[in-house]
Amino acid sequence: MANCAANDALMAHPPLEEIPCPLCGETGFRPIHRVWNRLSQSTAQAQGEPQEGTFSIVACISCGFLYLNPRPALQDLGRYYPVENYDPHRRSGGGLTGFFYRALQPLSLGWKARMVSQGQSPGRLLDVGCGRGEFLSLMRRRGWQVLGVEKDSAAAALSQAEGNPTLTGDPVAVALPAEEFEVVTFWHSLEHLPDLKAVVARMAPRIKSGGLLAVAVPNPQSLDARFYGRRWVAWDAPRHLVHFRPQDMETLWEPHGLRLIGIRSLPLDPFYASLLSETSWTSGIAAALKALRGLVVGGVSFLVGLKSGCGSSNVYLFSKE
Ligand SMILES: [Zn+2]
Repeated sequence: MANCAANDALMAHPPLEEIPCPLCGETGFRPIHRVWNRLSQSTAQAQGEPQEGTFSIVACISCGFLYLNPRPALQDLGRYYPVENYDPHRRSGGGLTGFFYRALQPLSLGWKARMVSQGQSPGRLLDVGCGRGEFLSLMRRRGWQVLGVEKDSAAAALSQAEGNPTLTGDPVAVALPAEEFEVVTFWHSLEHLPDLKAVVARMAPRIKSGGLLAVAVPNPQSLDARFYGRRWVAWDAPRHLVHFRPQDMETLWEPHGLRLIGIRSLPLDPFYASLLSETSWTSGIAAALKALRGLVVGGVSFLVGLKSGCGSSNVYLFSKE
């Protein structure tokens, strides 16, 4: 019943507000996709009929940046994160995709850990949007001095309980220690943050000169994004507020002394995104059949993603001047 109540609450839209381009400030935009909240789907939505309660992905007419517009007001954003339904914070459930997500998570964490620690000895690491702290725990075991920031207080408490120092709150408001960090990471968190430029302005100075910034975000130019169109799971409205092409990531960080030194694709994300894009809108045998197609699309997207910058989700690596 708790699930039903949460979903009913999600169906009712609070007022949305129109915003200028979060990257360049331009107010003009053109619509790209009409998408719906995959966590509050109705039968009509499952059949592909957009209806009330949908959201718009738009492109800035000046710089081309893709973002959710209009979007929920700041005070309403939290209501779109029902803890029981939100995949990244799940410990159980989520069907086949949830099972794979958890089974393969150690692989994914190990891959991320190797990427950020290559060529340097353990130092201080800040993970912005650390969730339940799985990445922090792994890095701490490898000798890093870690700190997490997490808006979701339940997830932050779990991270803290695992032994990871974790600050609860918005990254632009939370009280950070004065120290600088050798590594700062955003694992699928930047696209959730409403005040993009403020986050960047706050976090960039915390990276030590010569330090590394790693930002993982879904790629709206990926093969799976193009194949699924408005059904692509990583539009994830209204939780994902912005969608980065590689050039947007540079526009955002370079003025703060961060030089793009590499782009990697996350190897499991094409499978995860394709499976969820297929199965979020349906269930039962139909979902099982669609999951097979999802695996094929995910496989092709994985191969395409081997080319730099073309992954389903990309990790952008920056070096601080
Ligand atoms: Zn713009």
